[in-house]
Amino acid sequence: MNDNDSQLIAGLLDSAGHVSCDDPLKADIIIVNTCCVRESAENRALGYIGSLKKRKEDQPDLVICVTGCMMQKEGSADLFRTSYRHVGVITGTFAASRLPRYITEYAATGKRIVDVEERYDGEELLRSSATALRLGETNWRARVNINFGCNNFCSYCIVPYVRGRERSRTPVEIIQEVQSLAAGGVREIELLGQNVNSYGKEFTCGQADFAGLLHALDRVEGIERIRFMTSHPRDLDQRLVETIATSKHVCHHFHLPVQSGCDRILDLMNRGYTTAEYKEKLSMIRNICPDAVITTDLIVGFPSETEEDFQQTLDFIFECEFDAAYTFIYSRRSGTPAARMKEQIEERVKKERLLRLMEVQDPISLRINQEMIGKEFPVMIEGPSKNDPKFLSGRTEGNKIVIFKGHNATGGKLCKIKITEARTWNLIGEIVNKDKQKE
Ligand code: SAH
Ligand code: SF4
Repeated sequence: MNDNDSQLIAGLLDSAGHVSCDDPLKADIIIVNTCCVRESAENRALGYIGSLKKRKEDQPDLVICVTGCMMQKEGSADLFRTSYRHVGVITGTFAASRLPRYITEYAATGKRIVDVEERYDGEELLRSSATALRLGETNWRARVNINFGCNNFCSYCIVPYVRGRERSRTPVEIIQEVQSLAAGGVREIELLGQNVNSYGKEFTCGQADFAGLLHALDRVEGIERIRFMTSHPRDLDQRLVETIATSKHVCHHFHLPVQSGCDRILDLMNRGYTTAEYKEKLSMIRNICPDAVITTDLIVGFPSETEEDFQQTLDFIFECEFDAAYTFIYSRRSGTPAARMKEQIEERVKKERLLRLMEVQDPISLRINQEMIGKEFPVMIEGPSKNDPKFLSGRTEGNKIVIFKGHNATGGKLCKIKITEARTWNLIGEIVNKDKQKE
């Protein structure tokens, strides 16, 4: 989501007449888009921003802007006011779209601008990707924001505090954007929201819910694949799964973060479901959409998590058989309820649990991938493989990376690939040639 915001900001600056450059050393304006979901991201941002102090001394005209959710955090702007004086413009998540104006003002006056006000006037949003300069990205794929903010207040999470209350773009605005992206050659879209399943909840006249939106987008000519991120398990219902299963273009991939496999911890996390309810949703998906790829997020070391609690999570993921799990060490985010909980877990224990979790999940991912060997799948080509230019890289509908021999790197093209080898995080395959397909 932050990466998408960065591209939208780049698009705005492009429209304002600025030109992007590959080398930060040659830039007149540097914008750092921060993330504060976990401490490691914050530390990296702070380190980089600190390193710019010398640049500013050597190049007094340099405009340094810091934006993103870290700036929206209580106290952050004050810290920057006092300790990062080389930063000229500070904007939070509600004011990023004003950056072009602020940059002009700062360049003219040299007076520092800080705007971290929480506002809901529609103006605050970085909205349309149709105008975005998709920096370094391919022109066949685009991400589209459908709703912003979050009302869930999971007890560990900073997002509701820094991205504000949940609000949705109208279906008309989204459909028009996707139509214009398709007209410009985009073949795959990814719909973005902290919780896409609650899309449209605030519409008073019942304009559309997420299933309705998917149904409409499925008919946009030229779009081959529709992805979405992220689904909250509590809000995933049968109508939505049926819509996805019967659609032509919506990928049968569900990223359904469970966070923990222990009911006591889930309750403390304020996730709003139990492990039994989560498992019911999994069965529903697998019944209605048997070829669905299901991935999840997990947090280890949430405050007070005991060895038994953790063991329950291990058992749970063993039973659920996810295609893949993104695993995180709990990061204490000040201002959240979990940060105030007394029984914080030692770093050493958290790290050890992360490794043990991966030891259980990795063989499951590998085994599921091995079951794909010998079968054929439509794969959307992304481009040359990073490790070897003689190979191409693409993705299955379930978002699994496939590496295969080839040189025709037309990004966005669908081709049929037979899987020949499986690894934990990717697959190896070969193009099924058309003559063979006919046989
Ligand atoms: N809205 C999405 C994504 C939120 S952030 C969702 O609810 O799924 C992405 C992931 O980061 C979360 O799923 C969670 O696993 C992880 N995360 C969020 N806050 C965290 C924290 N304080 N410590 C560790 N991981 C965290
Ligand atoms: Fe954070 Fe929970 Fe909202 Fe996801 S649903 S953004 S984890 S508060």
